[in-house]
Amino acid sequence: MSSQVLIVENAAIATVDACDTEYERGYLVARDGLIDKVGPGNVPAALRQGGPADQVTVVDGAGCLLTPGLVNTHHHLYQWVTRGLAQDEALFGWLTRLYPIWARIDETAVGAAARGGLAWLAKTGCTTSSDHHYVFPRRGGDLLAAEIDAAAAIGLRFHATRGSMSRGRSQGGLPPDECVEKVDEILRASQEAIDRFHDPAFDAMCRVALAPCSPFSVTDELMRLSAELARANGVRLHTHLCETVDEEEFCLATHGMTPVDYAESVGWLGDDVWFAHAVHLSDAAIKKMAATGTGAAHCPSSNARLGAGHAPIRALLNAGAPVGLGVDGAASQESGMMVEELRQAMYTSRLRAGNSRAEETLGARTALRIGTIGGARNLGRQDEIGSLEAGKLADLALWDLTGLGHADIADPVGALVFGPPAPVKLLAVGGRVVVRDGELLTADEAALARDCRVAARKLVSAR
Ligand SMILES: [Zn+2]
Repeated sequence: MSSQVLIVENAAIATVDACDTEYERGYLVARDGLIDKVGPGNVPAALRQGGPADQVTVVDGAGCLLTPGLVNTHHHLYQWVTRGLAQDEALFGWLTRLYPIWARIDETAVGAAARGGLAWLAKTGCTTSSDHHYVFPRRGGDLLAAEIDAAAAIGLRFHATRGSMSRGRSQGGLPPDECVEKVDEILRASQEAIDRFHDPAFDAMCRVALAPCSPFSVTDELMRLSAELARANGVRLHTHLCETVDEEEFCLATHGMTPVDYAESVGWLGDDVWFAHAVHLSDAAIKKMAATGTGAAHCPSSNARLGAGHAPIRALLNAGAPVGLGVDGAASQESGMMVEELRQAMYTSRLRAGNSRAEETLGARTALRIGTIGGARNLGRQDEIGSLEAGKLADLALWDLTGLGHADIADPVGALVFGPPAPVKLLAVGGRVVVRDGELLTADEAALARDCRVAARKLVSAR
């Protein structure tokens, strides 16, 4: 029997395990997609010597930092081809400008956008991404399959969501009626998405969650029935919640409740649920999220771009709620890099607190923690990914800190989070090398960029 062996040696290592174990200089050995051993010093000779037929890849990580691959828990990949528009709008104005363009997406545009956005995530240190897709134009084709094919082509672990909108303008919602679907169609398509694509296996490369879009674009019936369907199938639930003051006012006016109370009323609190944003939360709402194990996907750059506010991440963490990070859709966060969200999360917590005291804000290690194991918890995969520990999947990022941007920054984790986005020397997903020395091995980057440009021009010029 031959094995695929991947060895990283001589690297600083932040394992992000429960004890935050770090090694100044250590090694990681992965075998057939699983982490075999992580430790300090040199690779033990017994681990280095595999069977004669083993395929062994050895990467010298001198001057580099090895971390778990970053886990992105909120994105809208289709927006990769509608970037740079409505630059100065807040959420509702921004959405109103973009809905008519998004109503024209099809599987060609979504495929190009997903390949581009996922390739960019891979090149910037992300090994697992979720995607919240909720626009399904009638003649758009098989959009979920287009995204899932893109993730398989790029080689990222993927959590697709069958999103949805059911409350159009004629029912008091924000989206135009031509962007929304009927509840029974949505539920049928949700079951089909689960049956076709959801893999519950430990090493699954694709899972599916259900994701009605946001309080101002869905009906109560859709929220309730989606929760029932997800739970009957053992899949997770995701939506936007508590993003803006406008959303809170909408919930108070429409339901007579805050967004978290509304979520509770339709069965949407639980350890199988994670919300994107969670910016505007009362103390009582934070307690409810923590008590029920409901997760938050913190998207600090998008919140800044749209002026949504800063999420109370330190308070959520102190209360014990799961917190991960997300880049959010590329139309409200054009840079689309998870590694930047680490720093942005840390900075945002300090802007919110008005100081940089560790007990009230985030430090570099907490930022890395929420960007890895925190995200894994949002996706229900904390036993499989999110930290470098024996028996977990070999999803890892090796950051090159030898260049001008980082070489003299004290502390490698500090260099990664406080410094500029570090080049990725190696990115592996389940032990498979996807990026090596900054180069994407699974696709032609120039061709991806060309496809995205063509799709973007077609969508935007059709206005
Ligand atoms: Zn979003």
